[in-house]
Amino acid sequence: MILRNEPRNQPEKNFTDPIQLLQYLELKREQSPFSESAMESFRFKVPVAFAQKMQPGKADDPLLLQVFPAPEELNDHNDYQNDPLAEARFLSQPGLLQKYHGRALLLVTPSCAIHCRYCFRRHYPYDDKGHSQTQLDNNLRLIEHDTSISEVILSGGDPLSLSDTRLKRLFEQLQAIKHLQRIRIHSRYPVVEPERVTTALLNTLKQSRLQVMMVLHINHAHEIGADNQQVFHQLLNNNILLFNQSVLLKGVNDSPEALAELSEILIQHHIIPYYLHMLDKVHGSAYFEISEHAALDIYKQLRSLLPGYMLPRLVREIPDASAKMPLYP
Ligand code: SF4
Repeated sequence: MILRNEPRNQPEKNFTDPIQLLQYLELKREQSPFSESAMESFRFKVPVAFAQKMQPGKADDPLLLQVFPAPEELNDHNDYQNDPLAEARFLSQPGLLQKYHGRALLLVTPSCAIHCRYCFRRHYPYDDKGHSQTQLDNNLRLIEHDTSISEVILSGGDPLSLSDTRLKRLFEQLQAIKHLQRIRIHSRYPVVEPERVTTALLNTLKQSRLQVMMVLHINHAHEIGADNQQVFHQLLNNNILLFNQSVLLKGVNDSPEALAELSEILIQHHIIPYYLHMLDKVHGSAYFEISEHAALDIYKQLRSLLPGYMLPRLVREIPDASAKMPLYP
């Protein structure tokens, strides 16, 4: 992996123009065609820290492919939808999803550090204002009245898009609910914008009476550099359990070797490889799809390369199922 020491011609924080990212990576537009129309429905956003880990001159870089608005996004596919997991059916109230026993998922923000082109919530109707403070307070009241809930999952968007002050307040509100035992945070920030993990954030996490776990989202070993390693260790040193989930993506990580390399580096950093998801069929993402047959073939080879504890579970999410469906028995 090439990690540049002195990046040239880069924005302060995020790339929001694909042409600027191509120039930064020394790529010509003909080498990496992109669609302006695809960006109208889902903006282009790539943190500098993530772009620094892409390899210059490589149009098929596995990190670049995750964020680049390919013209194929505009192709129609009948079985692809805006809400592939039928989440609208599981909303108890705007911003509160209750699908699995004992758990409640709060959509606390529509914002993310990075825009992943395969994201199953890329068409989510965030204008329902489920993330507003008023609605969040309503949702917390509902959780308080439902003693069957022991775990709250913070999602979005990416929950670490909230300011440290808002997260501290949210943690205080959750801690006051006596029957809660755990908070789970789903986030890409420690991976794609590690400087977001501030001392104030670490203090909020470590001072909680609730057990805190973080589920990261890393698809390829190249996403991990020295900057991330430091942040992972800070989280672990503050008793945060770290897990990882990946999505199996064509051209990005669809080989047993790439997945084995990822598991190796995760375990080196005490991160549990947790799930390997099949792609959720959201409009615009079909070009990332791997068939179940091919996925199982890759997974069987992966099993032969890794000890069992390093093997993520290959799963597909089914809207009406009471748990994720394993593809491998
Ligand atoms: S960070 Fe997560 S929620 Fe945000 S675009 Fe990527 S996959 Fe979607």
